[in-house]
Amino acid sequence: MNQEFALVPTPSYVIEEKLLVKNLEILKSVQERSGARILLAQKAFSMFRVYPLLARYLCGTTASGLYEARLGREEFGKEVHIFSPAYRDDEFEEILAVADHIVFNSFAQWEKFGRRTLAAGKKCGLRINPECSTQNGPDLYNPCAPHSRLGVTKANFQPDKLAGISGLHLHTLCQQNADALAETLKAFEAGFGEYLYDLEWLNLGGGHHITREDYDLDLLVRTISRLRQTYDLTVYLEPGEAVALDSGFLVSSVLDILDNGMNIAILDTSAACHMPDVLEMPYRPEIIGAGQPGEKKYTYRLGGPTCLAGDIIGDYSFDRPLFPGDRLVFCDMAIYSMVKNNTFNGMRLPDIILRTAGGTDEIIRSFGYTDFKDRLS
Ligand SMILES: *Cc1c(COP(=O)(O)O)cnc(C)c1O
Repeated sequence: MNQEFALVPTPSYVIEEKLLVKNLEILKSVQERSGARILLAQKAFSMFRVYPLLARYLCGTTASGLYEARLGREEFGKEVHIFSPAYRDDEFEEILAVADHIVFNSFAQWEKFGRRTLAAGKKCGLRINPECSTQNGPDLYNPCAPHSRLGVTKANFQPDKLAGISGLHLHTLCQQNADALAETLKAFEAGFGEYLYDLEWLNLGGGHHITREDYDLDLLVRTISRLRQTYDLTVYLEPGEAVALDSGFLVSSVLDILDNGMNIAILDTSAACHMPDVLEMPYRPEIIGAGQPGEKKYTYRLGGPTCLAGDIIGDYSFDRPLFPGDRLVFCDMAIYSMVKNNTFNGMRLPDIILRTAGGTDEIIRSFGYTDFKDRLS
């Protein structure tokens, strides 16, 4: 059933260059049509082996802290941006050495680190909370939820302290279309638009699902073009998901089949360890060739090999019964997977495989006992 994935070791993440390029071409066309500069948000996807490919299309990277910033500097080059809710004194010198744009989360942080940042010749920005939620989901992914710690609200904004600030940053979206951006900008510009005329750049954060089939590219391009014309500034986008959306798979094998009131398959991959967003977000990943429970003839609950009772990926149906050794291929597993996985229960981490444009599979990295032991003492 999954011929293309019959030979790779399991569990393994298989990332396909062709699928990445498909996304990158879309992002490149958005840059060309709108004049925006697009950065990779490394927190979603840090597979630095493909950074040289990504760097042919994108303008740089953004980081959530020192280590990501350093990775971007070392492996990607081009522009390095960083935002952190609060910077540490003992890391700031190193951050100044690797980052070009440093975004502060409060006026206190700006006052504490601003002078050194400007003296190092780096751009300073402030993250704004436009207090406009465009999502109904859980507040885990909503930086505009009540009492959010992310971004300066209008009430906390101090216009008299902007000298030296060259741009503003906002990040409020999660897996959203361009209409949510337009709505957010309405609120943002009402509160902060008057300051944009004097600034060099505006960073619209991530969460733009640009490479999704139904994304309204024209509205995005129109929106960015309008911002650039109105305020005469550089517009940055920093998507994570959209860069590697639907460009990777997690290939697993069935280890055993049980029956406890329903059929249960134990896989060699774990929701808790290898696709933690399945439990955290939570969501149900697609499996190639599988349907909703009851949709096809044979329904199974799929679970991992850890001792966690809730290490369950979900219920799926298949055209034929599952047997030990069968392979199941989970879709959209490039993003928020490798960057979040862990060795809970002493689980081995999946191999990382690059399926090149030429069609060969390169095992870039495989993990073993020392990867588990080295993080413990
Ligand atoms: C998470 C995040 C991103 C990337 O978000 P995606 O949803 O992966 O596009 C970009 N910028 C900031 C500040 C973030 O926190």
